[in-house]
Amino acid sequence: MISIDQELCKGCNLCVEFCPVGVYEKSDKTNKKGIHIPEPLHEDKCTKCGLCTLLCPDQAIIIDL
Ligand code: SF4
Ligand code: SF4
Repeated sequence: MISIDQELCKGCNLCVEFCPVGVYEKSDKTNKKGIHIPEPLHEDKCTKCGLCTLLCPDQAIIIDL
């Protein structure tokens, strides 16, 4: 399962751009700071490679391996 800590996320969209299988999508959902939080809409495609957790500058992504 993929969880994004909404208050840690700064909406840089690195996860959206670099997930090799396109798990994340930009969304209209915002956190308390008004930042748009991506959503792991295609989680079923996740290979658990761990790249997004390494790339996220704010350690906002947790993947339950
Ligand atoms: S672990 Fe890999 S495949 Fe899964 S969402 Fe992150 S980057 Fe994409
Ligand atoms: S890489 Fe991290 S901070 Fe950037 S949009 Fe994704 S979850 Fe948010």
